Amino acid sequence: MHKGIGVSPGVVVGVAYRVESVLGSGEPQTLEDPAQAPAEVARFDRAVEETTAELETFVQRIALELGTSAADIFKSHLQIVNDPELTARVHAAIEKQRLTALSALQVVMNAYAAQFARIDHDYFRERVTDVRDVMTRIGSHLSRKPGSPEDGNGAIDSHDGEEPVILVAHEILPSQAMSLGDLPIAGIVTEIGGSTSHAAILARSRGIPAVSGVEGIMDDVVAGDLMVVDGREGHVIVRPDREATAAYRKVQREFFHYKDSLIANRDQPAVSCDGTQVELLANINNLADAHAADTVGATGVGLFRTEYLFLTHHDVPGEEEQYEYYRQIVLNSPGKTAVIRTLDLGGDKTVPYLGRRNEPNPFMGWRSVRIFFENPKLLVTQIRAILRAGRHGKISMLFPMITTVEELRRLNAMVKEAKANLKREGVPFAEDVKTGVMVEVPAAAVCIDALLRETDFISIGSNDLIQYLVAADRDNPKVAHLCEPLSPSIFRVIHMVLEACQRTGTPVTVCGEMAGQARSALVLFGMGLRRFSMSPAFIPQVKALLASVTTAQAERFAHHVLQLSTSEEIRAYLSDRLREASSMLEAIDYA
Ligand code: PEP
Ligand code: MG
Repeated sequence: MHKGIGVSPGVVVGVAYRVESVLGSGEPQTLEDPAQAPAEVARFDRAVEETTAELETFVQRIALELGTSAADIFKSHLQIVNDPELTARVHAAIEKQRLTALSALQVVMNAYAAQFARIDHDYFRERVTDVRDVMTRIGSHLSRKPGSPEDGNGAIDSHDGEEPVILVAHEILPSQAMSLGDLPIAGIVTEIGGSTSHAAILARSRGIPAVSGVEGIMDDVVAGDLMVVDGREGHVIVRPDREATAAYRKVQREFFHYKDSLIANRDQPAVSCDGTQVELLANINNLADAHAADTVGATGVGLFRTEYLFLTHHDVPGEEEQYEYYRQIVLNSPGKTAVIRTLDLGGDKTVPYLGRRNEPNPFMGWRSVRIFFENPKLLVTQIRAILRAGRHGKISMLFPMITTVEELRRLNAMVKEAKANLKREGVPFAEDVKTGVMVEVPAAAVCIDALLRETDFISIGSNDLIQYLVAADRDNPKVAHLCEPLSPSIFRVIHMVLEACQRTGTPVTVCGEMAGQARSALVLFGMGLRRFSMSPAFIPQVKALLASVTTAQAERFAHHVLQLSTSEEIRAYLSDRLREASSMLEAIDYA
């Protein structure tokens, strides 16, 4: 059994599907007989044709799902695959150095990487990622055995087998993560990447069990191996014996049945056993998630992370395009209600067009609203698009990573100015778009009173708040044990913020992952939280959980938790309370 970090709950038994890094660093392979060179060149050309066809389909699909300019990223991949210089260099490596097509591709890729590394300009240097993505795709076609569409690939293809498919990879590239959506993937295991990587976030929003940080899994698994993925415990079993397989299949069946039965609560109100109402909102990353939010019965979108729109573009999306996308988001959100967060780049999410600094601590550095003060136009464009989209539903604007009151004042002034300009230009917009502050830097929590005087609402971003509070990178498996939501420090800080909001009557939401985790949700409800925003997949179970307790019971739990001194005590206490409420809810909670 391998142990990693459970990043999306659930249990699945399925067959392994390896996402190979086909361009390895091994010794280049030469052809046994130089006379094979023309056949090898033809094989390479065929792989290029297949890659082109695959990318063309991909461009069309992404254009339909995310809009035409989101498809630009793959259009540029089409240019790379059809670049005559690339073809000529690979041909030459096969013919002159007598390399196999795959090795020739690898050698050319290494040469490109060295060439790109010397480029001064950030934007162009970063293009090497696209080149590698394309080369990997060609390589995957080259290493495929005839008639076996799944062998050794870098791209993710469809699969027709009976057993559910479990993706096993060193890491999942952004382009691969985007293609996860409509494939019958039932589990994901990666060697690197934490609970907030692209793949983990997408897995959670689609309810796919996932485990990351599983060192050495690629050395242990061959394609087609039977595997168990327990995304709750972070366990991965390769080639389980008969007993383990049967036991886990049973848990898997129960899990599916339970989730299905929970979805049946879609149209029921979210209330505690004694009738206290709560709002269960969804965290979304794209349009597809807005639909998912509606399917599971969220009453609105509590957090739309706009970064994903920017991550799929080669340049800053313009005001018209952003406006159209936000309009679609709000029109498709439950109750036409959405909180749109301004761009939260930096940290682990970078786009080449902003340039990358070599920062020793990117999470502590130039990220989020801090970027805007150097690039005000970027924010002004986004603010204008959000204000304009506000006419099509109930939209609020949320500023992430606020650290000081001065920052908030500058941002509020920018919103005011954008409104005045839109008015002067005669562009229609919604005057009543509310603005809010994300409390995710401890400094903001400590000075909450001062921030409350200048904002309409608060959203507690517990994912970041935890990592900054305990000084431990949320994506680093080595310190994952410190990034623990069930901890005395995080509950005390959140309690302080909630009390301040209650005193001033300011609407407050918790939108970090802990809002969707049963144990912590119970405590948050007991502390008086009435707005929870989470990955859509968790809404049915949090609704079921709240229906199983009274407000007074939850208040008692919260009061008790605030007296405890260690995470271990808190976990044990809450596990008992959860088991009393529902043993199945306890089993599927992943915190
Ligand atoms: C958070 O930090 O809790 C949050 C919701 O934002 P993100 O996960 O996008 O940083
Ligand atoms: Mg955050």
